[in-house]
Amino acid sequence: MGRRKRKKVVYRRVRAVPKIFTCPKCGHKTMKANMKYSDDKALIECGHCGEQQVVPKNEISEPVDAFGSFIDIYYKDQEYERLTRREEILKEKQQYSELALVYSFLSDNAQINADKALEEFEKYNDPKDLENAERWKETAKQYKENEKRLLEQLKAGLIVDAELEENIYDEQEMNPFGEEQDIPSEKPKKRANIEEILGDPGFLEF
Ligand SMILES: [Zn+2]
Repeated sequence: MGRRKRKKVVYRRVRAVPKIFTCPKCGHKTMKANMKYSDDKALIECGHCGEQQVVPKNEISEPVDAFGSFIDIYYKDQEYERLTRREEILKEKQQYSELALVYSFLSDNAQINADKALEEFEKYNDPKDLENAERWKETAKQYKENEKRLLEQLKAGLIVDAELEENIYDEQEMNPFGEEQDIPSEKPKKRANIEEILGDPGFLEF
């Protein structure tokens, strides 16, 4: 008596190609790609918050590819903004070693923008793209020079990182306006004696 061989059931996963995506800005699943925007560009647009971006495409691009391009662009720009905010904080707190690193990231980021703009110019011959490319290239160069200068000065001992009393970064990161309310500038208030409080007739009225 041979054992019956169990029939192997193969479930084929049906993979639906997504057409609607979650918007990184507002979090709603309302992002669509208009693949007919032009011959070589698609328009990504959020039906909820209106976030939109024109992205490159080719003959075989699917909405998911266009969405992927959008995500790359979206986070690169966000990262640029985040880094420039960080730059201000680090300058103020005299954290030069980390500032040098931030300049190096900013330079790379600006260089990507320069390359992209140049690519656009080569495709469409729009002088605005060339202007953009030049501007980003110059920005990338400036950041690189800033990094180099800082590293040289640090090495020569002309500048040193200030000592921090506490970790300011996380709190600052949460505050998009970079206000400096979190820095303790005053001595801790003298703790009131419990007898003083209880003896204060005004206390009970609170
Ligand atoms: Zn949205």
